[in-house]
Amino acid sequence: MPRKKRLRKVVAPPRFQGYKPYGSRLEGNGSVDLLYEEYEAIKLADYDLMNHNEAAVLMGVSRPTFARIYESARRKIAVALVETKEIKSVFGNAELQDNWFLCTSCEAKFNKPESVISEDCPICKSSKIKLLQAE
Ligand SMILES: [Zn+2]
Repeated sequence: MPRKKRLRKVVAPPRFQGYKPYGSRLEGNGSVDLLYEEYEAIKLADYDLMNHNEAAVLMGVSRPTFARIYESARRKIAVALVETKEIKSVFGNAELQDNWFLCTSCEAKFNKPESVISEDCPICKSSKIKLLQAE
């Protein structure tokens, strides 16, 4: 029996859908998929300056697993920069701490307590919102 992949705890999804290089002749170089947990690993280690032990505990993974996620994230970002590829934000194996929603009209991401699900987007008031989860 293959073991079920443990979900990685992610506090909040990235605020972007993706990044694109700009400059002449940089269209169509392809893209890399940066998973939510990879974004979280970069955020914890390189932005919040946590050590890998603390970050692993926060994400609910072992230290070696954290190191693998972190290395994968750095590799993807390096490939994107050097090969001028887009970076796309992808759900991955994340377990978001709260329910997070995406507004498909203005692409805002927002979270809400359970009790007020099925409201409108707080930014543009569109009712076209969906729960962020693995596709
Ligand atoms: Zn909206």
